[in-house]
Parts: sequence; C-alpha cells; structure tokens
Amino acid sequence: MEKIIIAILGAPGSGKSTVRKMIYRELVNFYKIPQNEIQTFSVGELIRKRINEDGEYALRNAQIIRDGLFIPTSEWESMLAEMLSNKFQITVFDGYLVNVEAIKCFIKLTHAIKTFIFCCETSVVEILRRIKHRVVCPSCSFCGNDCFSLCPNCGKTLVRRPDDKNILERLEKYTQTAQVQKNLLMSEYGDNFRIIPYEVPYRVSVSLLCSQLIGRYI
Ligand SMILES: [Zn+2]
Repeated sequence: MEKIIIAILGAPGSGKSTVRKMIYRELVNFYKIPQNEIQTFSVGELIRKRINEDGEYALRNAQIIRDGLFIPTSEWESMLAEMLSNKFQITVFDGYLVNVEAIKCFIKLTHAIKTFIFCCETSVVEILRRIKHRVVCPSCSFCGNDCFSLCPNCGKTLVRRPDDKNILERLEKYTQTAQVQKNLLMSEYGDNFRIIPYEVPYRVSVSLLCSQLIGRYI
C-alpha cells in the first residue's frame, strides 16, 4: 500500500477534529487498518503542546494566539514535515490554513504523497453556537461541550480553549482568503478535494468519502 494523507481543513470551529476522529475510526473499525499503521493528530494541538513544552517557542507564539493572530508558516512547517515523513502508512490530520503562503507550504509538504483533502464547510452561526459550549482537556485531546466538567479520559478539569475568545477575529481573517484557498486546493488536488457540508450528518459524509475515494487505495 502506498502512503496516504487525509487532511481535514476548514474554518476554526467547523468540526474538523470531529470529522478527523470519525475517519480514523472508520479506517480502523470498517477497513480493518491496524492502528499501528495510522497516525492521527491536529496541527493546532501540536502547536498548543509545543507552546506548553518549549519555552522559546511559547515566547514567540503564545501572544500571537492570545491576540487572535495566526502563527507564521515557519512555526509549523517543520513540525508537520516531520509528522508526514514518519513510518505510518496513513496519516489523518486536521488544521486550518490561513493564507496563500500556508496553502503553498502545505502543497509542497504533501506533493509527493497521495493526498485527500476534505474541507468542512459550516455557517458562522453554527460555528459560534458550537464554540460557545466547547470545552477541552488541558492534558489529553478530549474536546466536548460544557455539559462535561471533568475529562472522561483522564479526569482533569475541562477548560475553555484560550483562542476561542478570539473566534470572531479568526473567522473574519479566515473568510477573507477562504475562496482563494479553496480554488488553490481544488486546482492542486482535483477530484481528491471534497467539501464536507454541515447540513449532512458527518457520519454519512465520512463513510461516503471513505468508500468513494480512499477505499480503493487501502
Ligand atoms: Zn483528558
């Protein structure tokens, strides 16, 4: 089997992580891919983890995130390159690309590997509704709504994501270049670029896309 990348892109709060986890489960449970052949991660989580662990990195970037600005491409390019070059057959990750420079970097990192791009499209109203109730675990990757107070995985107290308070600014910046980004992605990845609309249950889109696109490569 050749190496495969499945990237879930879209606006902040558009449901990327949910879709990513569903695809992972579909590949493991339905397509019986051994778990040691798949890696799954969120670029945002990689960045937040690095901020917690690396003082210099935090110094450069923590304020940028607090201000609702975007981390420069140079601050995530090598992290993502490293993840994509490791031994796993299948990589499923999510992230959001903020400008043309980021898209070009992303295309450069994936051009030699079979890559599928699924873009989550959600309305601003829906994003705001979700973010309003979103809580995350500070130590594992759990993300849920505020009917939870403790993490079901590790028992830590769930918190608001610090960058959620800037969601409007982040959405506005994302929207400014979203169409240009989509056009670039479509022209690069062709039929392997697909939209996941929020009006259709994610479960339906995920199983369709897996059977139509990915199933024949695994
Ligand atoms: Zn946890």
